[in-house]
Amino acid sequence: MTIKRCSSLGAKRTESSQSRNMKKSGNKYWENLKVDCWMYCSGLIMASPPTVLMRLVASAYAIAQKAGAIVRCVIAEGDLGIVQKTSATDLQTKADRLVQMSICSSLARKFPRLTIIGEEDLPPGEVDQELIEDGQWEEILQQPCPSQYSAIKEEDLVVWVDPLDGTKEYTEGLLDNVTVLIGIAYEGKAIAGIINQPYYNYQSNEKEKLREQRNKVKAGPDAVLGRTIWGVLGLGAFGFQLKEAPAGKHIITTTRSHSNKLVTDCVEAMNPDNVLRVGGAGNKIIQLIEGKASAYVFASPGCKKWDTCAPEVILHAVGGKLTDIHGNALQYNKEVKHMNSAGVLAALRNYEYYASRVPESVKSALTP
Ligand code: AMP
Ligand code: MG
Ligand code: MG
Repeated sequence: MTIKRCSSLGAKRTESSQSRNMKKSGNKYWENLKVDCWMYCSGLIMASPPTVLMRLVASAYAIAQKAGAIVRCVIAEGDLGIVQKTSATDLQTKADRLVQMSICSSLARKFPRLTIIGEEDLPPGEVDQELIEDGQWEEILQQPCPSQYSAIKEEDLVVWVDPLDGTKEYTEGLLDNVTVLIGIAYEGKAIAGIINQPYYNYQSNEKEKLREQRNKVKAGPDAVLGRTIWGVLGLGAFGFQLKEAPAGKHIITTTRSHSNKLVTDCVEAMNPDNVLRVGGAGNKIIQLIEGKASAYVFASPGCKKWDTCAPEVILHAVGGKLTDIHGNALQYNKEVKHMNSAGVLAALRNYEYYASRVPESVKSALTP
């Protein structure tokens, strides 16, 4: 697969303006220091070089963007290479495989002492050079690192990678449900995260085309396809417009392809005004931070640490809360069990309301 050729096929469909405005640097770390070093007449004062955490986030941003291009490329080439994992609703595609290789190899080359845990079980082997991304996002390097993370060493960090979240929906053409998730944990806590949404604006592009046909007038410039959201606890979350769900309404977002009686019982107990059944853990957290849903309720095992690590950071960075269905914080140290056996409960605001509505019968059926 030729990623460059493939990306240029969709030349108008590139990343959002926020992404374009952020300068990508393919240069090595020391070259970036040129702009970070300052001398003052009172003596020599050097701004500190970017910390390990901020370098990792800046690299993961560039890597997540390449991942988004690969996801689009596989669709453009037409052969999804679908494989069943544990069941007919637990799938893997060529995009899941290529993106995991791309993310894990790109990170490991630059940060060899990281612990990287990816969703897909792939045989070891040489990774095509075309899949490697060695750039980093300068704008992130210029952000201050929260002081509590400034001394973190590479070997202290665990990276949780979901190369393609919402695979079932990807195979069904529900492309805006899909995200690429890179979550970063320190001392068992999710502290930084990057979410690429390769088909952000996909629906609005389609609507735009329809409107254009109906009105027979030329629509404005095409909405750009794809975006990257990132965040670090103590610094904030970027790449989207924070919006709260309508006050007083309980709009619940939950699974569309992994439901069961426990899931529906718990959703019903929330006294919902509306229930949105959509794919992907990343997608559902995006719905919370953009005001489309008030709570993410998933009372079932099935969701894993790579599904929740990056989305949890973005939600927490803007004042929301994500826990299991009992209200326990999720742990992300490298030894932890991958499965979120006690489900997921998350909200941007009024988390306590939703937590208080979880039925005892649901709690007793889901042990952490
Ligand atoms: P969903 O909300 O169904 O899209 O699920 C969110 C994430 O959890 C996706 O990565 C799913 O693949 C995963 N997941 C949830 N339930 C299951 C399940 N029963 N089997 C496999 N994966 C699941
Ligand atoms: Mg997933
Ligand atoms: Mg996945």
